Amino acid sequence: MHASFPVDVDLALVGGGGAASLVLAALDRHGVSGLRVAVVDPVHKRGQDRTWAFWGLPGDDLDPLLSASWSQVDVVTAAGRRVLTLNPLRYAMLRSAPVYDRAAEAERRLDAVRISAPAGDLHDDGQRVTVRDPDGRDLVRAGWVLDSRPRRPKRPGRTSWLQHFRGWWLAADRPTFDRQRAVLMDFRTPQPERGVSFGYVLPVDDRFALVEYTEFGPALLDDAGYDRALRGYADLLGLDLTALRVREVEDGVIPMTDGPFESRPSPRVVRLGTAGGATRPSTGFTFSAMLRQADQVARALAAGRPPVPAPAYPGRHLWMDAVALRALDRGHVGGVEFFERLFDRNPPERVLRFLDGVTSPAEDLAVMRSSPLLPMTGAVLGDAAGRLRARLRR
Ligand SMILES: Cc1cc2nc3c(=O)[nH]c(=O)nc-3n(C[C@H](O)[C@H](O)[C@H](O)COP(=O)(O)OP(=O)(O)OC[C@H]3O[C@@H](n4cnc5c(N)ncnc54)[C@H](O)[C@@H]3O)c2cc1C
Repeated sequence: MHASFPVDVDLALVGGGGAASLVLAALDRHGVSGLRVAVVDPVHKRGQDRTWAFWGLPGDDLDPLLSASWSQVDVVTAAGRRVLTLNPLRYAMLRSAPVYDRAAEAERRLDAVRISAPAGDLHDDGQRVTVRDPDGRDLVRAGWVLDSRPRRPKRPGRTSWLQHFRGWWLAADRPTFDRQRAVLMDFRTPQPERGVSFGYVLPVDDRFALVEYTEFGPALLDDAGYDRALRGYADLLGLDLTALRVREVEDGVIPMTDGPFESRPSPRVVRLGTAGGATRPSTGFTFSAMLRQADQVARALAAGRPPVPAPAYPGRHLWMDAVALRALDRGHVGGVEFFERLFDRNPPERVLRFLDGVTSPAEDLAVMRSSPLLPMTGAVLGDAAGRLRARLRR
């Protein structure tokens, strides 16, 4: 802990996980200097606690940190295997350890103050923000706060699903996985009553791969449920688990909701990461938006501007996601059918760019046209009625 409180800084990162680590690295990359920075988090993130999979153009400074990347990925359904050629994009796998290491290096270079304590309330008087601990003691006074502590949306969504998953890092003694062959989504898994499930495989080499079972839906499984689902998926892949070692287990729960995440709760507080709306409601993918926003924050600070990034996704994408979530949740459309059509009727690059929130309105229209029109119209009308009801209630 730092000796004398409150610490006076220009920028306080409250929460030092994924979003904050990317901001620290971006500040370093953009050569920001002379900025007084504090990081407030009871946990100093280190090592492997998650694996980020994301797509993007190769050739940025994350390349040396990647465990693997693929220019093709498979989408598998009962009807067959579709190979998506991602060119010019690539699908990439980034383990958390090198991201946290790079952030720690950046923190040292920026001479940032690390406060290993939980933050409580933030008090923003419009000029400075006071970060208090949960007992109300002042920890930090900052010109700006980037707050990435996990939190719920400001209001419950009309649809509140979760992306929940368990992955096994499987190690083999002999060649078992095809290094070239990553599976983005494999829908042959038994489908839940409500929601959609899929497996995927991300091989690092022919003896080491992440094999994961994921569900999008309203309710979590219990511990035995995830293990059962993963064993079932390993069977489908023809993997002999008795010949493999589970080296690591990765569990996660990510919100998939049309509930609004507030990105600017007060003039000098900016929320980032999942708390700031960086999680795409229809897929749970978050990393690309965090990366983009980290870069925008660092560029702004390097130019002496306020560290306020553009919204993580355009409003029209959030509306499309709300409709898609509603259609899936109310059973207007089956999950497997929904994703099958998306990949069937659009070039892969368009789908991936759409999911990252960077497509043009014309491309969005093409994506919309590929969805089952009638059921989606029902969901659009239902969503509009839901919004109206919520507004009247407020
Ligand atoms: C296992 C897992 C795998 C994932 N894989 C992917 C993926 O492949 N692709 C993708 O796009 N997204 C993925 N995600 C989603 C998302 O990218 C991650 O959750 C990401 O870490 C979100 O970053 P964040 O900064 O918002 O939250 P976190 O990384 O969770 O950081 C929040 C930080 O806030 C700190 N904190 C909590 N309370 C306080 C407090 N009171 N005061 C101060 N600090 C506090 C925590 O200690 C933590 O360090 C995954 C998520 C999980 C859990």
